[in-house]
Amino acid sequence: MQGKIIKGIAGFYYVQTKESGLYECKAKGIFRKEKIKPLVGDNVELSVTDEAKKTGNVDEILPRKNTLIRPAVANIDQVLVIFAAASPKPNLNLLDRFLVSMDRQGVPAVICFNKQDCVESEERTQLKRIYENSGCQVLFTCARTGEGIADIRNILEGKTTAVAGPSGVGKSSMVNLLAPDAQMETGEISRKIDRGKHTTRHSEILPIGTDTFICDTPGFSSLAVWDMEKEELKECFHEFAKYEGQCRFLGCTHTHEPGCAVKEALEAGDISPERYRNYTEMYTELKEKRRY
Ligand code: GDP
Ligand code: ZN
Repeated sequence: MQGKIIKGIAGFYYVQTKESGLYECKAKGIFRKEKIKPLVGDNVELSVTDEAKKTGNVDEILPRKNTLIRPAVANIDQVLVIFAAASPKPNLNLLDRFLVSMDRQGVPAVICFNKQDCVESEERTQLKRIYENSGCQVLFTCARTGEGIADIRNILEGKTTAVAGPSGVGKSSMVNLLAPDAQMETGEISRKIDRGKHTTRHSEILPIGTDTFICDTPGFSSLAVWDMEKEELKECFHEFAKYEGQCRFLGCTHTHEPGCAVKEALEAGDISPERYRNYTEMYTELKEKRRY
């Protein structure tokens, strides 16, 4: 039978199957055979050892699509990055750093500005405009009233999504709306593991529908991955792509060169000043090898 590891704790892996629910599994022999440790998010082949007790063994880890480092989760389809439209005011510099990090890891990002009840429509329009050519879908929600949550559900459907964002923006409120049954699932697992084993830090994904999982991502700043050359940064700013090759100099970094098509687009208002400023700031950091 196949399933997905939704939680790993104290040497046990909790595997969700489509056919018959949740199994508590060990992973005997896996490391010896495959030389890899199972991760939350792994799709696995399992064999049932006791159907009544719902226990089993993970026999094989199916090929991974990707692996996020912090938190260690496999097979993430996309990240839902949540910021508040206001209170707290969105830190777009932090958002852009996060988008670069996700882009480098090959994980598509959807931006969600929550607390849309706290802003006027002009501020919404402004945020929408800044990110309209970033290659990311932008959504506005209000976790307090549930507005926009249906759109979020559509985006999550059939996928495994990491939910990320700074604290205080409404992530927990959103997760509670999306996964009202999650507490129950967690309760079921904790009853199974509540046998005096000390619990260690773990990651977890929550099943919220058929083939649909969300992963509540702890720690936000720790996600940055800066193992890149400064020349590669511009590839992460997707709105620059259409000007590529139009600059006077081959290999233009779009920072100081004369005849730069990106800077011309900036002057013409076709590239957002906020995005451009964050690009140049990150570029300078990479140049000076100050890495975050
Ligand atoms: P987290 O730290 O990102 O998990 O944020 P929480 O879900 O704990 O929310 C932080 C605060 O913002 C709480 O007081 C929530 O009630 C409030 N909040 C969450 N979503 C909204 C929203 O859409 N509008 C407003 N006005 N407040 C919200
Ligand atoms: Zn240029």
